[in-house]
Amino acid sequence: MLKKILIANRGEIAVRIIRACREMGIRTVAIYSEADKNALHVSLADEAICIGPAQSNKSYLNVKAILEAACLTGADSIHPGYGFLSENANFAKICEEMGIKFIGPNYKLITLLGNKSMAKETMKRAGVPVVPGSEGLIYSKEQAIEIAKKIKYPVILKASAGGGGRGIRIAYSEKELEKEYYIVKQEAKVSFNDDSLYIEKFVENPRHVEIQVLADEHGNCIHLGERDCSVQRRNQKVLEETPSALLNEETRNKMGEVAVKAVKEIGYTNAGTIEFLVDKNQDFYFMEMNTRVQVEHPVTEMVTGLDIIKEQIKVASGEKLEYKQKDIHFTGHSMEARINAEIPEKNFMPCPGTITGLHLPGGNGIRVDTAIYSGYTVPPTYDSMLAKIIVHANNRKEAIAKLKSAVAELVVEGIQTNADFILKILENKNFVENNYDTSFIQKEFNT
Ligand code: ADP
Ligand code: ADP
Ligand code: MG
Repeated sequence: MLKKILIANRGEIAVRIIRACREMGIRTVAIYSEADKNALHVSLADEAICIGPAQSNKSYLNVKAILEAACLTGADSIHPGYGFLSENANFAKICEEMGIKFIGPNYKLITLLGNKSMAKETMKRAGVPVVPGSEGLIYSKEQAIEIAKKIKYPVILKASAGGGGRGIRIAYSEKELEKEYYIVKQEAKVSFNDDSLYIEKFVENPRHVEIQVLADEHGNCIHLGERDCSVQRRNQKVLEETPSALLNEETRNKMGEVAVKAVKEIGYTNAGTIEFLVDKNQDFYFMEMNTRVQVEHPVTEMVTGLDIIKEQIKVASGEKLEYKQKDIHFTGHSMEARINAEIPEKNFMPCPGTITGLHLPGGNGIRVDTAIYSGYTVPPTYDSMLAKIIVHANNRKEAIAKLKSAVAELVVEGIQTNADFILKILENKNFVENNYDTSFIQKEFNT
């Protein structure tokens, strides 16, 4: 078993990983930027090392400083969390070369799957249904127009290196496509330093449903069911749940089987998520694979009873999965809301600052994953997510009621949050009646 893990992350996910390590008797090393010296992950870890100034590229993205910290503290492994270096193949490769276990898949698979266009072609070969579109990258506006004519509008232009909901543009006509082509290319260049694009059919009124997989280094793989993440604002997830209220049992099983088959075929290991779009006919299409732990992983933990972070660590330690597919049972319904420091009335502008008073909800079936505390100052430099409120109940209706109650109980003083906006979603008739898709927030709240 791994003995000392450096956590190359911050915020709630760093805290989440440290807690799993403590339960497993594994020592932890926190890294932090100058802006994070009072952060919770720093005080919870056994050791902590400052790795640079606030700016991410000088700290949490600073490969050299992070590896120096690992060497200095004698960490035998690194857990990257999500975001930051979690899907950076070069980082994973250097870790491997230095004999430090990267808790995730092999760097070659991160390279393959991080390139969305290549990932799509690979999945297609592995028998996974994909959205019709370009075969691989597109190299000119003319080529984009030609393909769009074949697959018919609307189409979606995507940056192959994209992530975090950025580098995606929809075009409803040739005229729009001509305009968007240059915009997304420029955006991709600036955000991801890689302007390669691909194009596919824009699936109308889809649901976003993803399958959590877990694979060990001995060829065993299982899936942990699905998560429905269709409540999104600007392609970013706001609320997630499992099971999906859309899927019938047949589609659910088929998606799980397809995911496991693909994972085995490409030799993927550790935890991963295969994201699909599902249309009204229950047809599903591969979208991308995330080669890391996902923000919304707790809903899966609530209904399966597994601890995904612990499973990641065990797999990285070389252990065999203790579970076969038949051992995985799903109980009840779980839902998660992302509480962000932002002002919904001001176009969801981030709202950093000092938390002067705090009350977190609790009680039966309620879990809060967070790194905030009363007196904590949320720095302006990083992601605005403050907390995830996760509930577990018997069914969807009870889960909505429980989440509503929990979010209503939350008190954050000193800064603004999106809590009231979350409550509006939970009270929305179309959401409650399962009558929605990925355009839900835009349609209902015009944002
Ligand atoms: P999840 O599917 O786990 O919700 P997201 O796509 O929302 O994942 O990303 C998780 C975190 O990683 C977010 O903080 C997001 O901003 C960040 N992120 C994801 N991909 C990238 C990327 N390519 N570049 C920068 N940040 C990213
Ligand atoms: P990211 O890496 O930023 O998470 P994804 O490829 O997963 O990017 O897409 C993000 C979101 O954009 C999806 O959850 C979905 O709502 C929407 N989307 C992506 N591709 C399509 C498509 N072909 N048709 C309709 N919506 C799409
Ligand atoms: Mg995605």
